[in-house]
Amino acid sequence: MLVVGAGQMGGGIAQVLAASGRRVLLHDAAPGAVEQGVATMRKSLEKLAARGAPHDPDEVLGRVEPVDDLAEADLLVEAVVEDAEVKQEIFRRADAVLPPEAVLASNTSSIPIASLADVTSRPERVIGMHFFNPVPVMTLVEVVRAPGTSDETVREIVELSHELGKTPAEANDLPGFVSNRILMPFLNEAAYALQDGVAEAEAIDTIARLGFNHPMGPLALADLIGLDTCVSIMEVLRDGLGDPKYDPCPLLREHVAAGRLGRKAGRGFYDYA
Ligand code: NAD
Repeated sequence: MLVVGAGQMGGGIAQVLAASGRRVLLHDAAPGAVEQGVATMRKSLEKLAARGAPHDPDEVLGRVEPVDDLAEADLLVEAVVEDAEVKQEIFRRADAVLPPEAVLASNTSSIPIASLADVTSRPERVIGMHFFNPVPVMTLVEVVRAPGTSDETVREIVELSHELGKTPAEANDLPGFVSNRILMPFLNEAAYALQDGVAEAEAIDTIARLGFNHPMGPLALADLIGLDTCVSIMEVLRDGLGDPKYDPCPLLREHVAAGRLGRKAGRGFYDYA
């Protein structure tokens, strides 16, 4: 299996695939990103092992092979930056490199799966396989079916999700699918509440955690997801649904422009230094 993108999500996806006994090729375009991804996987595996998980970190990581470019595999899981053009280029190239029967799956949060299927010669083998963050812990996989996706492809990805110990739920290929159609406007509104001075960040998150019984407040969750990813998803919702109510909050844009991307950058709504 080939995972492209070794960031927070790609690393997590490679980890759960390898932990299930599969051999995983891992590619990223940025120098040092795969090494960084593997180091993060090691930390996660060691933490899980200390809590009683049955996997030996060395054994799992021994099944992860860094590769310099796209390579032959029976499944691609693409987890690069949330940018339609970058993803399309990967799907175009993957269509040429992977065997014709291979499934090409995207972990995109919101980009239409059909727009990725359209650049390939195998739209029936293209599907959304949307994991949640952190991948080794979160049990949901949102399986996104584009109009051209075959029943067989859906069946295979549902089965794989079960084999990884996840619970798949199917959604159709509409902007943001189910998860981000609901979640992202909530996070965006929390950013507006902060921007408008309704409350401090900690108070907003406390109110959501205790008032709505959420495990995490929306600003802390936005930081975990990555504020750049949040902005990209809001733009897909706005453009795809044609409604300015989905415009990203200016405060979110301000943080992104300043490089405060959330946890992965050490700073977002909160400071993680
Ligand atoms: P990230 O910024 O942590 O990692 C993205 C990685 O993609 C980087 O390592 C970057 O070097 C790599 N990359 C960029 N262009 C590339 C290319 N052309 N070829 C190979 N690698 C390339 O981002 P992330 O949070 O892991 O998000 C990745 C995808 O997962 C996005 O589509 C995002 O919407 C989706 N997603 C994110 C979350 C989340 O909570 N962060 C949850 C579900 C889905």
